[in-house]
Amino acid sequence: MTRPRDNILRLDAYAPGEQPAAGTRVVKLNTNESPYPPSPKAMDAIASVGTEALRIYPSPTAQPFREAAARVHGLSADQLIATNGGDELLRLILTCYCKPAGHAGQGGIGVTDPTYSLYPVLASIHDTAVTAVERGDGFSLPGGTAKRWNEAGCAVGFIVNPHAPTGRIETPDTLRQLADEFRGLLVIDEAYVDFAEGDAAELIREGRDNVLLLRSLSKGYGLAGLRFGYGLSHADNIAALDKARDSYNTDAVSQAAAVAALDDRAYAEGCWAKVIAERGRMTSELRQRSFEVPDSHTNFVLATAPGTGAPDNTAAKHAHAIYHGLKERGILVRYFNAPRLDDKLRITIGTPEQNTALLDALDELL
Ligand SMILES: *Cc1c(COP(=O)(O)O)cnc(C)c1O
Repeated sequence: MTRPRDNILRLDAYAPGEQPAAGTRVVKLNTNESPYPPSPKAMDAIASVGTEALRIYPSPTAQPFREAAARVHGLSADQLIATNGGDELLRLILTCYCKPAGHAGQGGIGVTDPTYSLYPVLASIHDTAVTAVERGDGFSLPGGTAKRWNEAGCAVGFIVNPHAPTGRIETPDTLRQLADEFRGLLVIDEAYVDFAEGDAAELIREGRDNVLLLRSLSKGYGLAGLRFGYGLSHADNIAALDKARDSYNTDAVSQAAAVAALDDRAYAEGCWAKVIAERGRMTSELRQRSFEVPDSHTNFVLATAPGTGAPDNTAAKHAHAIYHGLKERGILVRYFNAPRLDDKLRITIGTPEQNTALLDALDELL
């Protein structure tokens, strides 16, 4: 039997948050989906996809979507690529820019730890090196990040901003400085930017050729099931990615829904405002229950469990116990068994009712 390559055999595959079977009654606050349905206009667009649109191939580049998104961001359509979820864009970036480990001149990826756990998985799949710079106090972006990535010869550096899993945010000026210093392609993963004030699109509008922004319809538009994301960058980078993608990487149904969702910005903004209001309430309610909760600029909070004081019952064990206690009560949150995160819970902001159910369950548990 032909064996897969060694790096694939060795691979620890990406571990998604639990997705309970359809019809299971749970309060699902573990994978940062929107608690609100997609725009009714997106649902209408899906219903209106005719037999003819399914008989023929879709627009290979999702051209109507590129044009709609270009208008939103003040860019031109050739500065945009549509992908099957933001995750496909990440894979394309590694395919186009990274080199296998051991290659002269290196060509791996740079990340800051902790980060989106898909990046190192994609690096393993592509057999390319990872240079991880530890985040500083309060998970701040360390000053020497670009220097470290340059020394390691990274071809691509990934910054999640606002940051997952902590929810903190860096200013466009900080990102601009990073882009100035870094010699590779700086990818700013803006999967959660809809819940923050402002974004880094000005770095693309300035005409920089070494910055790429990732956007997703999964979080901000209530369309995680659709699988639609996109990238913003200099037209030369987009042209390179465009050559390497599948010929028809987004389908006719998702293109129709994505255009309608983006065009109905008023609806999306209403959802963001509700999530942001509830994020404020959850932050203060959790703090009142002795959790440590930094201000978040995303649709989740990262809450450090209250320590119990006893040496054999650390905050880490406590966080894990709370995770289990919530699960027994039908409430899913995310627990990461990882350094610096194992005493914390990442809690997606739900509807007011879901959030209250979580708080009530915590009051029972604590
Ligand atoms: C959700 C997410 C993405 C993209 O998700 P898709 O569902 O594939 O669009 C990218 N980066 C981060 C950090 C995310 O949380």
